[in-house]
Amino acid sequence: MDFHGDRAASLAASLAASLAASLAASLATSLGQRVSLRLRDGDGFRDLLGVLASEKTLVRKNGEIVEFSPHEIAYMRVVPVFNRRDTTFDALEIYETASKSLRKIEADVVQIYSCGPTVYRDAHVGNMRTFLLTDILRRSLRLRGQEVITVSNITDVGHMSENITESPSVDKVLEEAVIESSTAIEIARKYEARFHADLASLNIEPSDYYPRASDEIDSMLTAIATLLEKNSAYIGSDGNVYFDARSCESYGFISGNKLDSLKPGHRYEYQGDGGKRFHADWALWKLSGSREEMVWDSPWGRGFPGWHIECTAMSLRLLGKKIDIHVGGIDLRFPHHENERAQTNAIAESEVIDTWLHGEHLLFEGRKMSKSAGNVLLVSDLIAKGIDPLALRLALLENRYRSQIDLTWQSITAAEATLRRWRNALHQWGSRSDLKFDNQIGNFFMSDLDTPKAILRLRAIEKDKSIGAADKRAIFLFADQVLALELDRVPEREENSPAVEALLRARAQARAESNWAESDRLRSELAELGFTVSDSKS
Ligand SMILES: [Zn+2]
Repeated sequence: MDFHGDRAASLAASLAASLAASLAASLATSLGQRVSLRLRDGDGFRDLLGVLASEKTLVRKNGEIVEFSPHEIAYMRVVPVFNRRDTTFDALEIYETASKSLRKIEADVVQIYSCGPTVYRDAHVGNMRTFLLTDILRRSLRLRGQEVITVSNITDVGHMSENITESPSVDKVLEEAVIESSTAIEIARKYEARFHADLASLNIEPSDYYPRASDEIDSMLTAIATLLEKNSAYIGSDGNVYFDARSCESYGFISGNKLDSLKPGHRYEYQGDGGKRFHADWALWKLSGSREEMVWDSPWGRGFPGWHIECTAMSLRLLGKKIDIHVGGIDLRFPHHENERAQTNAIAESEVIDTWLHGEHLLFEGRKMSKSAGNVLLVSDLIAKGIDPLALRLALLENRYRSQIDLTWQSITAAEATLRRWRNALHQWGSRSDLKFDNQIGNFFMSDLDTPKAILRLRAIEKDKSIGAADKRAIFLFADQVLALELDRVPEREENSPAVEALLRARAQARAESNWAESDRLRSELAELGFTVSDSKS
């Protein structure tokens, strides 16, 4: 008798029963509320947004009543509703890379796939800017009442190093494991945990799913097998499986890099493989050779997946064959996204991604951030210096996602001063938590995520004497739904910095000398730093 088998089966049955019971309980408590519901539908999913009328019916915004069976539910979330009565702003428009034009995002439930980190080192603030883009996008869509489902992958295997020296299969994670005298899995988990901590300190909301490449080997094997079956892939003379780039007629759709203009030897793809038929083909599965860590069995031999197939397999498995927005840094546009699209479309036999969205580069103190330049800035560096990480969030949002920015220490400390001044001001403007919709700010967010203009508008409101304190607070709190700077955080009574102490002493001196002009100038300098000075009348 297979005792273990029976035990496993009974455990699985009791797990399924407890999942069903918890779903039934959450259905019962969510009646009458607005929910986002994902139903299993054949191989894919159907996403619905509406009010849960009973445990089997949902009423959509247009009045349509949808019936479902609780067994079909793959995912359910109660959507927080706040008062949207005053909003008149239009649907979000974002800049689509392939068509080079603005595209309106109108779906009730918007599915977003974002290329995530390769976890072999800390993500620097330039990487963080891309993850912030997904966050701003999601918060803006929710501001208009749309629901969002996000997936972001964790690359813990398959991303080849650019510094290929001797070994033909140097994976970034394995390479770092050697440097840190650790195992690949330890390295991957360590940096994955630090990635999540960095996101949290920047108020970047976690994705709904974080699939890891090493957990998704099965879906990648299925994807590769499908590509072989459809003649979009082949087994090379070296035994590796390659994607046949020429099988994708529209290759170059996103980046404009058509195959006939790509010269052999162009160093855009790992060059160590000798078994390709065409120079622009790329590996889907590589044989392990002498590599022993992070390798798996496959129908084509023991090995490991290529990097590009990861996003294809995960996005198709978790989001299905219709994905609204794909987000990534501009450096991934080619070849990663071009290759990903070729694979995904070949499997789905349709155009899967509706909108390609790319975030621009970031320079730090005028230079590209790199290990060799020694100017890599991490979120943890800011925290170690006692700088509020949300000052970085503000400094980044003062630029639109698709303009290149030059981040400087000066822009970070200026943002920190603004943040402190705003939190002090909100504290002085009352304690209510009402939100007041400001159509201008709403429209700036909807107009290709124009956060700098929204921030400028806040600066104008701050100074506007015709707006009452309670209204100012409510408008700032509204903007903070997207900016997420914790503007209602009660200011800490902290020790003044030496700079502030010096300004205070200089001002006391100026007053003692009855130099009112200088005293006023110093007062506004202090105010810029977030310190309000009130003089007693004595
Ligand atoms: Zn990707």
